Amino acid sequence: MSYDAFVGTVAGKKALFVLPTIPDDAPPAVREGLARRRVATLTGRCPCGGRSGLNRAARRARRGKVQRAGFVHEGGCPATDEELRKFGWVPMFGGGGRG
Ligand SMILES: [Zn+2]
Repeated sequence: MSYDAFVGTVAGKKALFVLPTIPDDAPPAVREGLARRRVATLTGRCPCGGRSGLNRAARRARRGKVQRAGFVHEGGCPATDEELRKFGWVPMFGGGGRG
């Protein structure tokens, strides 16, 4: 599994996002799910209508500390852990991976 890095902001703080590369050979539903995760992470909104939901620990994260940010998707969104698992993709820290 390879990853891409992006610089952005979270709650006004500079942040480094490390997200799974979208493999060309993955099933279309997986590629869509990973693409939505990327959009959701970088913009705070998913096409399904979901929104980011930083928990208290993430909001209080110190500079340089790695935090997992939560995201609430609408049911049936291909970006959910449940949908990605159907294709053998097991969500891991901050993204996903093949199980
Ligand atoms: Zn979604």
